[in-house]
Amino acid sequence: MPVRLPFRPRRDAYPPDLWTKCPGCAEMLFNKQLDKSLRVCPHCGHHFRIPAKTRIEQLVDSGSFIERDSDLSPVDALGFVDLKAYPDRLMAAQLSTGLRDAAVWGIGNIGGRPVSMCVMDFGFIGGSMGSVVGEKVARAGEAAIADRIPLIIISSSGGARMQEGTYSLMQLVKTMGVVERVKAARVPFISVMTDPTTGGVFASFAVVGDVNLAEPNALIRFAGDRVSSGTISEELPAGYARAEFWFSHGFVDRIVARAHLRDEIIALLGFLIAPPLNGSAETPQAPVSRPRSFLSALTGALTGENVAESHNGETGASRGEAPRG
Ligand SMILES: [Zn+2]
Repeated sequence: MPVRLPFRPRRDAYPPDLWTKCPGCAEMLFNKQLDKSLRVCPHCGHHFRIPAKTRIEQLVDSGSFIERDSDLSPVDALGFVDLKAYPDRLMAAQLSTGLRDAAVWGIGNIGGRPVSMCVMDFGFIGGSMGSVVGEKVARAGEAAIADRIPLIIISSSGGARMQEGTYSLMQLVKTMGVVERVKAARVPFISVMTDPTTGGVFASFAVVGDVNLAEPNALIRFAGDRVSSGTISEELPAGYARAEFWFSHGFVDRIVARAHLRDEIIALLGFLIAPPLNGSAETPQAPVSRPRSFLSALTGALTGENVAESHNGETGASRGEAPRG
C-alpha cells in the first residue's frame, strides 16, 4: 500500500490562484502576501494594476464610501461589432468585474475630510472611457461643486472606447467642461495617474489637476510610439512614456508609491482646503482652493523659509488672488 504524504510532494506548476509572477523581476509572489503589500512587488516595487473597489478601500476612511449611480449602464447605440458584438463584450466585462462599466464614483472621507471621488477600472475593457465613464466623471465633478468638496479622480485607462465611436470622443469635451467649472468654483482637484493613463483620458481630465500625482513607472502617454514619433517625425527619448520622465519635465507634480498615496492625499487636502473657522457661521465649511499658498508653502519647505500664511486664517479671495481659469 503506497504511503500517502500529508503535503504535496512537488510543485510542478504555480497555481495562478495562489501565486503571481512579477512582470518587473520575474519573482513568484504569494498572492496573500501581495495583497498585504497593496499589490506592490516587495522585491522590485512593481505596482500591479488593481480594481477600482480595491483602490477605494485603500484610500478612503474605512466604511465611509457611498457609491453613486452604480446602476448606470452603457448602451450599444451604434450596433457596433468588431471581433465580438459590443453587448457581448460588455456582458463579459460585467461578469468578470462585477461592475456595470469602467468607473466607480461616490462620496467618501479621506483623513476625515469628505471628497468626491471617481476611480477607473482597467479590468473593464481596458478602463476605456465611453458614455458611462464620462458621465460618472462629470457627476463626480458636479457633486464636488455642489457640496464644495475636493474632487479626486484616479485614472487607469487605455483611452476612449472605440465601440462607442463619436459618443466616446464627446466625453473628452464633457469631462473637461466639468473640470473647468470645478476650477472656476475654486474647488480643489487632485488627479492620480496610475498604470496606464493613455489616449483620451490622458488627453482630457487626467493631466489637468491642481495637483497631478502618478504611481511609480506608470505608463502615461497619448498614443503609441509609432504614432507619436510619426507625428513629430522624431525619435522619442527612451522611457518618455513613464511617470518618471513626465515628472522630470514638470508634467507630473509628484510620484507617490502606493503605500504612501493615502497619506499624500491627506497632506494635500490639508494644503488645498482652508481649515474651518472656529464656530463661524458665516463660512461654515466652504473649502477654498489655495494653489498659491500651497506652492509657496512647498517653496518655503525647500528654501527653509518660514511660511506662516497658511495659518493666518486669510482666505485666498480676501488676498485678492485672481481666479484661476
Ligand atoms: Zn517584482
